[in-house]
This record gives sequence, C-alpha cells and structure tokens, in this order.
Amino acid sequence: MSQAEVPAAVLATDARCAYHANNQAVATCERCGDFVCALCSTPSEGRCYCAACFDLLYQRGSLWMTQRSFTLPDTASFTLAVLSLPGLCFYGLGVILAVVGVVLGVMALKQIAAQPDLPGRKQAIAAIAVGVCSLLLLGIALVGISLLPPITI
Ligand SMILES: [Zn+2]
Ligand SMILES: [Zn+2]
Repeated sequence: MSQAEVPAAVLATDARCAYHANNQAVATCERCGDFVCALCSTPSEGRCYCAACFDLLYQRGSLWMTQRSFTLPDTASFTLAVLSLPGLCFYGLGVILAVVGVVLGVMALKQIAAQPDLPGRKQAIAAIAVGVCSLLLLGIALVGISLLPPITI
C-alpha cells in the first residue's frame, strides 16, 4: 500500500498495530476496524484485512478465490454428465463424457469434504449419479443389442 492511501487520521494519531504494540499502524482492517501494521495487513480482492479476519473469511469460503476454485469442477462435471445422455447415441462420445463427468464430480465432492461450508454438494452427487446412469444404460443397450437375433429383411 502506498503512502497516499494511508488515512490521515492513522498517521496523525501515531496509532499502533492491534497485534504488535511496537509497530506503527499502516491501515485499518475493513472487517473489524482494528489497526494493522505492514506485517499484519492482508490485502485480498482490493480490500485490506487483519490476519484473523482473513483466516475467518477464507474458512467460510466467502472469498472470491475459494469460490472460484470450487465452482469450476462442480459445474463442469454436471454439464458433462447431462451431455453424456444424448451422447449415448454416439457410443464413444457418451462413454467419454460420462466418465469425465463422474471423475469431475468425485473431485468436487473431495473438495467439499475438505471445506464443508462450500455449497454444491447435491449438484456434484447428481453429476455422479447421471454419469453412472449413462454408463449403465449404455451397458444395457450393448448387452441388448448383442442378445438380439440378427435382423433379416
Ligand atoms: Zn479484522
Ligand atoms: Zn501487526
């Protein structure tokens, strides 16, 4: 943070960091309002938080970067799993889409297990279920075709 961004009041009162009594404050936390020194200030997404508030926000998954890392595999897995259903008409394509959808769904579930606060668990499970159903349908169709007597015209 440059000197120009430091509030005048902070400099004038010679405020001290809430965590380090020996360090001069360079900013205030945007969440709790505590004075923070250069060591403690944790810039994130254009805002400045103290270390405690940053940890709290990170664990809640309310920071943009934690949501981003989650949303990507979750949404992709569901989309692929749904696409695998019409893809069954083209056997090779359906299998690939279903398998990738299930794998991405499992990845998303593992991510949710590590951070239980994250949303999207149902979507990830639905993606796996749809993908597995696609594979089952495909298996039944293949067995059915192989059991049918050859069609003679
Ligand atoms: Zn704070
Ligand atoms: Zn400090």
